[in-house]
Amino acid sequence: MTKYIFTTGGVISSLGKDIASASIGKILESSGLKVALMKLDPYINVDPGTMYPYQHGEVYVTEDGAETDLDLGHYERFTSAETTRFSNATTGQVYNTVIARERRGDYLGKTIQVIPHITNEIKERIHKAAHASKAQVMIIEIGGTVGDIESLPFLEAARQFRLEVGYRNALYIHLTLIPFVRSAEEIKTKPTQHSVGKLREIGIQPDILICRTEKTLSDDIKEKISLFCNVNKEAVIEARDAESIYQVPLMFKDQGLDKIILSHFGLKCRSTDLKDWDELVVQKALRPRYKATVAVVGKYIGLQDAYKSIYESLIHSGIYNDTRVIIKKVDSEDVEKHGAGSMLNDVAGILVPGGFGYRGIEGKVAAIKFAREKNIPFLGLCLGMQCAVVEFARNVCGLKGANSTEFNKSTKYPVISLLEEQRDIKNMGGTMRLGAYPCRVKKGSVAHKTYKKSMVTERHRHRYEFNNIYRDLLEKKGIIFSGIYPKKNLVEMIEIKKHPYFIAVQFHPEFKSKPDKPHPLFRDFIAAALKIKR
Ligand code: GLN
Repeated sequence: MTKYIFTTGGVISSLGKDIASASIGKILESSGLKVALMKLDPYINVDPGTMYPYQHGEVYVTEDGAETDLDLGHYERFTSAETTRFSNATTGQVYNTVIARERRGDYLGKTIQVIPHITNEIKERIHKAAHASKAQVMIIEIGGTVGDIESLPFLEAARQFRLEVGYRNALYIHLTLIPFVRSAEEIKTKPTQHSVGKLREIGIQPDILICRTEKTLSDDIKEKISLFCNVNKEAVIEARDAESIYQVPLMFKDQGLDKIILSHFGLKCRSTDLKDWDELVVQKALRPRYKATVAVVGKYIGLQDAYKSIYESLIHSGIYNDTRVIIKKVDSEDVEKHGAGSMLNDVAGILVPGGFGYRGIEGKVAAIKFAREKNIPFLGLCLGMQCAVVEFARNVCGLKGANSTEFNKSTKYPVISLLEEQRDIKNMGGTMRLGAYPCRVKKGSVAHKTYKKSMVTERHRHRYEFNNIYRDLLEKKGIIFSGIYPKKNLVEMIEIKKHPYFIAVQFHPEFKSKPDKPHPLFRDFIAAALKIKR
């Protein structure tokens, strides 16, 4: 019988429900349980794939090709649970399913309502996800903040869920904020009381409170929260601001959160063992010996979440290389304005991430030219690879005006273009080349040295491809096509000779990096950056 944990958030958004949920997954997994995580998103988009990164942040792609919420990235980084298309459900998906059923006549004669039809579909999706994952404990994070209109059906479904699976098989954890009011020199519990009150109005009494705070919660404060919120004092967990997000599981374990959860479920497990995580991840993240500054040259650098998995992957590689990676976020439009030399002269590595649309492209191309000519380690991801091809075609092969047809439909040299199968697509949602595809790695290449494998699998999210018409010419001029998708002969990885590290890939390695197992491409990018004196 699967056990279910619902995590909700109150007071304000951005408290880190994702990290809290992932950390709960981590401590339970470390006591020997098989866990799975799922995110319920109240927005009406069917998936975040059509949203602007500034609206939503990064779109996380699962192995099976679903475009999902970026919180799933934390679930995969903290635990060994693999997320799938079942791991993220949105209001859009739920309504789509119910309305399609109604049109088919499945509910003939009935009025379709939020309760029970929408809530039933939400519960159904939780059961499906649990079934697909075969997990012993399923953690379900409910997006939004308690009190939002949009999240009500999800909370109502969570309330009904315990009624159906039994008290001992479901648990409610509420994440809340205990603000410190400077003028009064006091921390305040009132917003938490209100937030829990709001949850109780819906019929959910939280079993555990996780309190985000900048200050330690005294015994008195915990007692007060316990009394007013009707939660056991030991179930009031303090979540102080941490230097590294990877400390959070340790913080939870130290306060006995694992024991409280296991005892509620009546599960007997070995005690949680986070020794390796502490030694190999946390201690290394906090006290690195070296440091290296690398630039991420993108156009959504103003929002921390837009390149979440990339930033985390750089941190993971820092942990591995005993290095504090300082990330210089460079707006590619600033490179256009001020020149690559002035924006990038102090960095030991340049990373160009994925993206869509023409704005900022010329800045990325200029940054890549700078990396190539000045022998600065370079890693290009997806659009970053496409820009590297454009740069090389223009500046080394003499194809003046070479471009991707995404940016210039009538370019004389379409070095990046659409595959036939993408040309007639009209619907924008879920129609890119998505998810995991195999890639053959060329023997003797840097990529092969990095992966130490001849076949790898990586996740994709793009429409445009390298145009094979230009393969011979680019090869002659020094590009090595080091990764190929064999079935369709598509270029997946390129590199150049005589450079400390210059690799660009059509896929997204950032989705598969973990704090205790950095992705090899990032790992060696940082290792190369460390060798550069800057
Ligand atoms: N815009 C490019 C394409 O669609 C790159 C996409 C990306 O970087 N994710 O192919």
